[in-house]
Amino acid sequence: GPVTITIDGPAGVGKTTLARGLARRLKIAYLDTGAMYRAAAWMLGPSAAEMQEEELAKRLDGMRFTLKGAGPDSCLLLEDRVIGEQVRTEEVGLLASSIAALKVVREYMKKSQQKMGRETSLVAEGRDMGTVVFPDASCKFFLQADAGVRAARRCRQLQEMGREADEQKILEQMRRRDVQDSERAIAPLVPAPDAVNIDTGSLTPEEILDRMAAIFAD
Ligand code: C5P
Repeated sequence: GPVTITIDGPAGVGKTTLARGLARRLKIAYLDTGAMYRAAAWMLGPSAAEMQEEELAKRLDGMRFTLKGAGPDSCLLLEDRVIGEQVRTEEVGLLASSIAALKVVREYMKKSQQKMGRETSLVAEGRDMGTVVFPDASCKFFLQADAGVRAARRCRQLQEMGREADEQKILEQMRRRDVQDSERAIAPLVPAPDAVNIDTGSLTPEEILDRMAAIFAD
């Protein structure tokens, strides 16, 4: 059957770069589950956090996420459209984090993620990949890094996208998001007991990818 590798960790820890890199090395698909929560938050808008469960379920049912294409060239679509960079801000991230605490939302995402995992081999990144969505994954990683390092990294990424970014503000927003993600009742951000922990603050992406590939091959 298809192989699943999971990468979990807090905001700005390097999940996306590493999950993409690992998927490319192993020639399998890459699944950014944060982008699913962000796209849902973007579609639902700021009132989402106050919506009734029933209304939310109805709105979510109309959101079809699919992986188009094969292997590392595959791409995550919502309703046949690529999820754009407009969801990459900390504001959308915070809203995503709020709706990610709701049971109907998590159940819906879990169902679509597991469906993709049954259809194709993938590297899945997020917060609950190794704990909840793919507990039987062949290989699990949990990434960590100092909050200051993560904020600086996220700040640089936003600037590269041509956006204004205030490092202090990003650090604050990120901390709020980490607390919210770690303290929620459903699928909190915690390492799976069988995950390999990696500190990404002191290593280059290439070094980490070498280590991950070696652990996977083992
Ligand atoms: O990874 P990213 O920062 O794009 O995720 C945005 C938010 O989506 C996270 O702060 C988290 O609240 C939520 N999320 C989640 N579970 C996942 C992926 C993301 O709760 N598997």
